[in-house]
Amino acid sequence: MPHLYLHVPFCVRRCSYCDFSIAVRKRIPAGEYVDAVLKELELVRAADPGATTEGPEGPKKSFRAPRGALETLYLGGGTPSLLPPDALATLVTALLDAFGATSSRDAVEVTAEANPEDVTPELASVWRRAGVNRVSLGAQSFDDNVLKWMHRSHDAARIGAAVQALRGAGIDNISLDLIFALPAELQRDWERDLELALSLGPNHLSLYGLTVEERTPLARWISRGAIAAPDDDRYAEEYLLAHLRLAASGYHFYEVSNACRGDAESRHNSAYWSGRPYLGLGPAAHSYDGRARRWNVAAWSAYARAVAAGRSPVESAEVLTSAQRELERVYLALRTDRGLPLAARCRPVPPVAAWVEEGWVEIRAERLVCTPSGWLRLDSLVRDLTEAGVVA
Ligand code: SF4
Repeated sequence: MPHLYLHVPFCVRRCSYCDFSIAVRKRIPAGEYVDAVLKELELVRAADPGATTEGPEGPKKSFRAPRGALETLYLGGGTPSLLPPDALATLVTALLDAFGATSSRDAVEVTAEANPEDVTPELASVWRRAGVNRVSLGAQSFDDNVLKWMHRSHDAARIGAAVQALRGAGIDNISLDLIFALPAELQRDWERDLELALSLGPNHLSLYGLTVEERTPLARWISRGAIAAPDDDRYAEEYLLAHLRLAASGYHFYEVSNACRGDAESRHNSAYWSGRPYLGLGPAAHSYDGRARRWNVAAWSAYARAVAAGRSPVESAEVLTSAQRELERVYLALRTDRGLPLAARCRPVPPVAAWVEEGWVEIRAERLVCTPSGWLRLDSLVRDLTEAGVVA
């Protein structure tokens, strides 16, 4: 079952920490964007999915375009909620139709990311009618000073108003994004932000620690000493606090950064973490067919020019080696609460036995599963596991 990702690159300004591929625009070229994405899908489908090309190791299949009924559609960005609601509805409808999701549209998980300031009752009801049934809101914090520092364009009050508007339109599957581990100078009260987020009753939360990316305002502020770099101790403290607080409210982390109530996992992101194929459309979008990964040019203008001229916007591609695939399998498995199947011979062998002692991992039903403390050191666990050759 295909999973489709759509990158909507537009933002009204750049947030202080963000290095995503975006196009800052006052006027959103919505019509041009919708046409370009639908044209790109035509180009993908026109390319022969079964063709073979001669590679250095013999014949290789070309990139396989996904076929069959769509399982998930995810509109991320950038800011999908900057598209006029009718334009987004046109796009979602056309994509659902293109993948044959005509009868039971709600069988498809259709997620759109939104910034709280864009979500009005009108937008919510147009989105719902078009088939959007899950919204991921970029809340980030409930502290207005922090939101200003982040260059966000909403204030805290808009978050609750957006949740209300979505529920009023029948969109109950709501996720909130929050950022933690902010510099101490901001005096952000993380526990208060968690309480306020939980008081809105979202059924999903995504929690990301602040990271410093090159060429962002945040990196510049840190390099000139205007603000301290994020602190590892604060990161660990706030991450573990979130686990405790969310567990007390009936949420479970099913992935290192994502928690939900009941079975409200993101089906789309879970497909990524299970190594399943997906197709990405739009500038900077990545695709994976189970064997090869490829990605589009990042700049909106270059993408639009290529597609308008009938050329593929793919910038580059790589076929994963078996070692890369193995590393990815280990890393993705340990990100989730399903964990990694272990070869029987590995269990008593260090480093796994030592990690169990430390409380970083647990062994459940022959699978190695990270605890919250283990997720804090995920990269080093994966490195040690693969170097020690102790995975199945
Ligand atoms: S709204 Fe999102 S994508 Fe746009 S600049 Fe801010 S963090 Fe980046």
